[in-house]
Amino acid sequence: MKLYTYCQNCNRSITTQTSLPDRIKLAQKYGKEIKLKCPHCRTEAMYHIDSIKAVKNKTQERIMLVLFLTIAAIVSVFAMDFLIHYPWPVIGAGILLIFQSPILLYFIIQRIKNKRINNFNFYFVEVKE
Ligand SMILES: [Zn+2]
Repeated sequence: MKLYTYCQNCNRSITTQTSLPDRIKLAQKYGKEIKLKCPHCRTEAMYHIDSIKAVKNKTQERIMLVLFLTIAAIVSVFAMDFLIHYPWPVIGAGILLIFQSPILLYFIIQRIKNKRINNFNFYFVEVKE
């Protein structure tokens, strides 16, 4: 999961990665404040976990979409060749639909990722008053 916050010095965005599901787990592992280095001004500072947000990794999302579409297209081309000679068109269309499953799988994965991002951003370590 991609995390971001703003630099205390230059106010530009700092991003980092985590495999942990939420802020509570992040705090258990690193404490309530984590040290981050700004890639723009090179300033190192402590950032409170509640000031860090999870976001979509758009580059990764686009690469995955291209990859899954390519797999679905290649598989469909091979399936088409077979299905042209297939005697039952309804069953043939059903089989072709199965070959489109990488696209469905892509949307399922994105849905799970979005749920994780929402979950991360929803729970704070400190109780807000
Ligand atoms: Zn900076």
